[in-house]
Amino acid sequence: MSDMRRDNINNTRYDIPPELEGQVAITTLDKIYNWGRRSSLWPIMFGLACCAIEMICTAASRYDFARFGMEIMRPSPRQSDLMIVAGTVTKKMVPQIVRLYNQMPEPKYVVAMGACASGGGPFKEGYNVVSGIDNYIPVDVYIPGCPPTPQALIHGLITLQRLIDTQSIKRVRWYGKDPIPEIPVPVLGPDLMDPRQYELMREVAARRKAELEAAEAVSAGSVEA
Ligand code: SF4
Repeated sequence: MSDMRRDNINNTRYDIPPELEGQVAITTLDKIYNWGRRSSLWPIMFGLACCAIEMICTAASRYDFARFGMEIMRPSPRQSDLMIVAGTVTKKMVPQIVRLYNQMPEPKYVVAMGACASGGGPFKEGYNVVSGIDNYIPVDVYIPGCPPTPQALIHGLITLQRLIDTQSIKRVRWYGKDPIPEIPVPVLGPDLMDPRQYELMREVAARRKAELEAAEAVSAGSVEA
């Protein structure tokens, strides 16, 4: 076991006799549980736009994020722990992204890579893009840049590993009593509709209809007069 790995899982409150260092590790359940997950984050394999090229580059030999245990990009959400949203998030793609997120088993994490995925980027408020994927799925780490460099993505992934290090098996949501609800998949019609906002849409539509009816009644009254 390398020194780095031993440091990661050892609980330093207990002394290990020098002759046993390297053979024995004393740790807590939380530490070893987190260490296992942080060291085997498998990203789901998909990309949306230019940021995806930087992500692919980060997986290739020069930067090689396999060094962090992110060995294989999985082509199936069933085998993935990590969604790297890399690229411009168009309204057309949001239903697919949310569906894939729902299909990933817990524990799962999301990284928003780049300005587009984090907040719309240069296309913010364009007719065909959303202003950040976090309007639809929860994001754990945001990486700024247009595009972020491979180094920035690696920094974001290390940040995610640090976040995992702080989790406790007692409090993680996937062991809670209540089942984790699926996120309703948005519907793409004339515009993107989020089912979580249907109530608000109904209210706005009813108010608008009442305003139109009132305006029509006024104009009909003025014509008769
Ligand atoms: S943030 Fe920049 S590089 Fe990344 S997808 Fe958007 S426009 Fe392309």
